[in-house]
Parts: sequence; C-alpha cells; structure tokens
Amino acid sequence: MSKISNLVLFMMLFSFMNFISLTSEAKPGKTQQPKYIFLFIGDGMGQNQSYATNLFLNPTSKEGQSLVYNQFPVQNFMTTYSANDYITCSSASITAISTGHKTNNGRLLKSPNTDSTYFSIAEWAHAEGFNIGIVSSVGINHATPAGFYGHQNSRNMYYEIALELPQSGFEYFGGGGLIDSKGKKGDQADAYAIAQNKGYQWINSIEGFNQLKYGNSNLLVTNPILEAEAEFPWVIDSIAGNLSLAQFTSKGIEILGDGKGFFMMVEGGKIDWACHSNDGASMLYEVIAFNKAVNEAYQFYLQHPDETLIIVTADHETGGLALGIEKNLKPELMQYQNISLQKFQKKVEMWVADSLHPRSFEEVMQSVQFHFGLGNAQKGLALSNEEMALFKAAYRNDFVNHTSRKSDADYLDHEGANGLAQTAVDMLNHKAGFSWASHDHTATPVPLYVIGAGSENFTGKMDNSMYFSKFQNLMKRKK
Ligand SMILES: [Zn+2]
Repeated sequence: MSKISNLVLFMMLFSFMNFISLTSEAKPGKTQQPKYIFLFIGDGMGQNQSYATNLFLNPTSKEGQSLVYNQFPVQNFMTTYSANDYITCSSASITAISTGHKTNNGRLLKSPNTDSTYFSIAEWAHAEGFNIGIVSSVGINHATPAGFYGHQNSRNMYYEIALELPQSGFEYFGGGGLIDSKGKKGDQADAYAIAQNKGYQWINSIEGFNQLKYGNSNLLVTNPILEAEAEFPWVIDSIAGNLSLAQFTSKGIEILGDGKGFFMMVEGGKIDWACHSNDGASMLYEVIAFNKAVNEAYQFYLQHPDETLIIVTADHETGGLALGIEKNLKPELMQYQNISLQKFQKKVEMWVADSLHPRSFEEVMQSVQFHFGLGNAQKGLALSNEEMALFKAAYRNDFVNHTSRKSDADYLDHEGANGLAQTAVDMLNHKAGFSWASHDHTATPVPLYVIGAGSENFTGKMDNSMYFSKFQNLMKRKK
C-alpha cells in the first residue's frame, strides 16, 4: 500500500473516530429529554417503498423529496432478523422493537421457548407516567399494535390478545377493530363488551369521534367502516365515510397531549398487505396515507421542537421491491390504477356469479382498461399479443376453471392461479418497472428516519432490538 493511500486511510479512520466521539459525547447530560414520543411503523415499508412513493408524487424530480419523513435530519438503517430466521415476521420484529428481546417468528412478547414474558416500552412508559396511544390501520389486536400490550405464544391468538387490551389501561386505542372479537368460532363472549365492562368506552361513529377531546381516557375508537379482518378499506379505493390514519393520529395528539407527556405508536399496516400481493399502486397510496399521519406529528413537533421525538421506521421489508426492470422505470404509470387488487377481484367474482349476464372477454378487458389503463396506447400501456394471451388465460382461470385466488383469501395466502386482477396488477407493475422478488417478507435492512429531542441517539449501528433501551434512557423520569 502506498504512503498516500495509508494517509488517506488514516484520515478516514481519524474522521470516523471523531464522528464516533462526537456522537457519543452528545449523549450524557446533553440530550434533550423528549416528553412526546411518536413511533411510526410502516409495516413492510422498506427503502424502495418510500422512494417509489417520492417518485410517484413528484415524477419531475429524481430526488423526489415529497414525503415529510424523508426530510428528517437523522436517517439510518437497521437489521430486523428474528431469533430463529434471517427473515422476521411482524410479531417477532415488534417484540424486538418494543421489548429489546429477539424472539421466534410468530411469538408475541414471549421468549423463543415461551417460558418468559416480556414487557413493552409502552407498558414501561405507562408505569412511568406517560399517556399511551396505540393506532393502526389494521386490526388493533394484529401483531404490530398488539406488540405493545399483548403477550401470547402465538400472534394468531387474536381473541386472547383482545382480552389483554383493556388490562393495559392505555389511554387511547384508535383505528382498526378487534379481529375475532367473539373468538375463532364466534362462540365466545364479545371482546368489545368485555372491554366496555372493564371501563373502556368504545366509539365507532364519526359523530362520536368528533366529540372526543383532551381528557377523555380509556378509549377504544374504531373506524366506522372496517373490512373483514377489522382493517381499514384500501386508501386507493377512496371509500366514503371512513376516517384516515392521519385523523386518528391528530385525534390521539388532542386526547393525549397534555403536560404529562405521551408515547404514541402509529402503524400503517396495509403497506405490508399491498406488498404481499405485489400491488404496487395500492402500496403507494398506503404510504401516502401513512406520510399524512406522520405529518400530523411533524406539525406538533414544530410547535414543541425541544420536547418531541419522532421516529419513522418499519418492522421489515415486504415483497423484495426493486425499482427498475431492464433500465425501465416509470412510476407515473401507476396513476392509471384506480382500484385495489382485492376490490377488482371482488368485482370479477360478482361477474362470475352473475349467470344471467355472462361477461365476454372483450367486456372484462374494457374494465381492465378503465381501472388499470392497460390496453390504452396513448397512456403508454398498449398490450402485445403475448400480454393479451396472459389475460385470456387469466379470464379462463376466473370464468371457466374457477381456479383463481379469491378476494377473501387471507393476505398471506397466495395459493391459486392468477386471475384477471392479479394479472392486471402484475402487468402494470412490470410496465412501470416495479419488480417484486417475493410475496413475503425479506431480510433487507429497513430505514429509520428521526427528528427531534434525542434524535442523535439513533445514529450508528442499529438493530430492531436497540430501541427499547434507547427509549428507556430518553424517557426515564427523575423520581
Ligand atoms: Zn407481512
């Protein structure tokens, strides 16, 4: 090695050591203690899910600086592996995030061998005197929100988790409802009624929502319109009469935001579901809605910059999204999709069931063009003969063979042939240059974006198990 490269190496090492000592010097005594802590989790939201949304929102800029959290001063990466796999599930990752302990996939706040129960940062902060808010766009007893109050050997024990909700005593649960509120077979005592008997107020109307204000407590506030698994409708489907994740976030700030301080977790849960289906356009709209929720916290931060900490991160990446296929990337083509894969599949199923009016291939392709732009050459979405052949095969799977995946299949279930809906989604993604490696989670490290009091603690090496002690150090109150 030459002397010059030795010198360069030394200088790099020196500036790196300087950086280390600067960041570690910033910690003791000097860190501003946050009183208001927001933890935003985009389920399945890797780096490319956010960058694609930036490009989609601002196609004239290759930087695409449109999402509010992309402007945050501290940006970093973290690993997400679970105790038993490179690839984590939501419950193992949220256990690591909320308790500092790695566990096996499927466990919720339990050790890998299930002998030990862990407590979450929200339970600790509540005991410390903070108000707690837990918000999600999917079921409030689904893995990520449950990871702050539920302790079960399996994340699928939804009913048992629902019974744990009122035991938490947390001030505000908002967003999705209770999955399996009467148990898996529907024969158990209603978990909503149990929560009410234990002192929780259950609100599920817009009027009731609007009346909520600071000082209301022990609230379970659910969106008036919920889908089969107690989750929000897809943002892309613009269903009237439902409340947004941003509204649930700003309501949380209003309810919790007194001088006492609060910890609020907000999950964008359907980013993950869209990625499981490789439904790029639906994913973009879920990220946009998630960003609007972050913006509510950011506006609050601007009023209390010395007392507020905002972290935006993910539990894992889903889908293995790559941007660009053979040098082709046209995120703007995603604007021509105006329906979720799931809703379009429902539509196809209604046509299939309508024996009085059998739909021809030409008829359904008109609808494909209306909802996905596919077949419209002016939009840059002409279809080749090979692509038309794929649609003909998909039409047969839906209308003749009846082998296509059904709209009510669980979002994790990818058995069954591709029908018209999945074919249209896959083709639009391909033309836009959105390439998906998987229908499931990946081991790709995920980003974190941080602003506010104590944000300097989130630089350097990060793993999902490192939040808990950082939060504790930042939030510990002098007794
Ligand atoms: Zn998932």
